[in-house]
Amino acid sequence: MPLERLVLRPPETGHKILIAESGLRVPDDPIIPLIEGDGIGPDVVRAARSAIDAAVASAFGGRRRIAWYPVPAGERAMFQYGDMLPEATLGAIREYVVGLKGPLTTPVSGGFRSLNVALRKTLDLYANVRPVYWIPGVPSPVTHPERLDIVIFREGTEDVYAGIEWEKGTAEARRMIEILDKEFHTRVRADSGIGVKPISETGSKRLVRKAIRYAIDNGRKSVTLVHKGNIMKYTEGAFRTWGYEVAKIEFRESTIPWDDVVKSHGGKIPDGKIVIKDVIADNMFQQLLLRPEEYDVLATTNLNGDYLSDAAAAQIGGLGVAAGGNIGDAHALFEPVHGSAPKYAEMDKVNPTAEMLAGVMMLEYLGWREAAVRLRSAVKSVVGSKVVTYDLARLMPGAKEVRTSAFARAVVDAMDGAGR
Ligand code: NAD
Repeated sequence: MPLERLVLRPPETGHKILIAESGLRVPDDPIIPLIEGDGIGPDVVRAARSAIDAAVASAFGGRRRIAWYPVPAGERAMFQYGDMLPEATLGAIREYVVGLKGPLTTPVSGGFRSLNVALRKTLDLYANVRPVYWIPGVPSPVTHPERLDIVIFREGTEDVYAGIEWEKGTAEARRMIEILDKEFHTRVRADSGIGVKPISETGSKRLVRKAIRYAIDNGRKSVTLVHKGNIMKYTEGAFRTWGYEVAKIEFRESTIPWDDVVKSHGGKIPDGKIVIKDVIADNMFQQLLLRPEEYDVLATTNLNGDYLSDAAAAQIGGLGVAAGGNIGDAHALFEPVHGSAPKYAEMDKVNPTAEMLAGVMMLEYLGWREAAVRLRSAVKSVVGSKVVTYDLARLMPGAKEVRTSAFARAVVDAMDGAGR
C-alpha cells in the first residue's frame, strides 16, 4: 500500500495556548494535541478523553472546553506515513504547547531508542514529573499506602541516560581507556564498556527550580534533594549543592534549609516556609517505606528518579494507576506510566485510570484546577465503589469487573452526579 502524505489540520474551533513571560496564557477553548498511542492506547485515551471532557463541562459549564487535535505517532503513523514520529506531529506539540498521549510501543530495532525519549529530547521536556498517591480501594503491597503522597521531579536529559557510551572493544572505548590511563593516571580494565555521566549546573538548577516552584504553587511542605553524592561527588554531590543554591538564591523568602530549622528554630519549621532537605538515594528507598509521610516533593537525577518512581508507584498499587508529565520551560506532555500492553490491544479491557490521572495532571497544568479536582474525585469514587477493570477486580474481593468503556461511563456519571 503506498504511503499517504501527512497533512495535519488543527480543529476549526479552539485557540492556541500562548507562552507569556508570566507563564502560560490558556484560552477557554485550548487546542490540545492528542497522541492516541499504540496497543491499548486508543482504548485508554478514548476513555480518558470522555472523562476529561466531562470534568471540564462539570466544572465550567459551557464556558470552557478542550479542542482536541489528534496527531499521529507510533505504529499507525509508521504504517500510514512511513514515520513513527512525523515532523508534523512534533511541530503541532511545539506550536500548541500542551499535549496528552497514550503509550507508544518502542521499536525493537531501528532509528531511535524510544519514541518517548525522542519526544522529550526534541521538545526539551527536562522534568519528568510523577505524582504518587493512593486511591482508596486500590490493592497495595504495603499496610498503609495512604501515608504516601509525593511528587517526584526526575531530571530527564542528563546523567547516564544522555546516551554517551561505548561498547567494550570498540575504538572509542579503547581510546577512552587510553586517555584515562595516560592523561589521568586512572586504570580501567581493557575489556570495559565505557559510559559517561554528565550532570550540569544548568540542568540541575532548572529541575530543582521547577520542583520548588511546584511546591510553592501547590502548598507542599518540603522539597527533598535525592542524590548519591557520598560516592559521586562531582555529579550527584554537585546536584545537591546546586539544589540548595537555587533555594537560597532564588527562593529565599519561601524556603528554609533543614539545617537552619535545627540550628536557628529549635527543629520547628517556621510558618509558611518550605523545608529543603536532602537524602542519599539508597536511604530514600527505605524512607519511602518506613516514613512516607515525611516526604512531599522529591527532586532527583535521572537514574535515581527512574528507579524511585517505579518503586514508589508499586507502593500505591502499581503502574496501572500511575501517571506522569514530561515538562519543559513551557511545553508539557502528559501520559500514563504503563506501556502499550499489545496483547490487550482493542479488547476494551484494560484500566484507563493512569491515562485519566494524566488528564488530571494536564488540567492542573492548564490551571483548570476545579476540573482536575472533579476528575480525580470521580475516579476515586468509582474505584472506591469497587467498579474496576480486570486488573484490579482480580485483587479486590467483592469487586464488579467492567470494561474500559464502562469504567469511563461510571467516571462520567460520578461527575454528573457530583458536579452540576
Ligand atoms: P506494559 O506496561 O505495556 O505492559 C505490561 C503488563 O502490564 C501488561 O501485559 C498488562 O498485564 C499490564 N498493564 C499495563 N497497562 C495496563 C493497564 N492500563 N491496565 C491493565 N493492565 C495493564 O509494559 P511492557 O510490556 O514492558 O511494554 C510494552 C510496550 O510499551 C513496549 O514497546 C514498551 O517499550 C512500551 N512502553 C511505552 C511506554 C510509554 O509510552 N510511556 C512506557 C512503558 C513501556
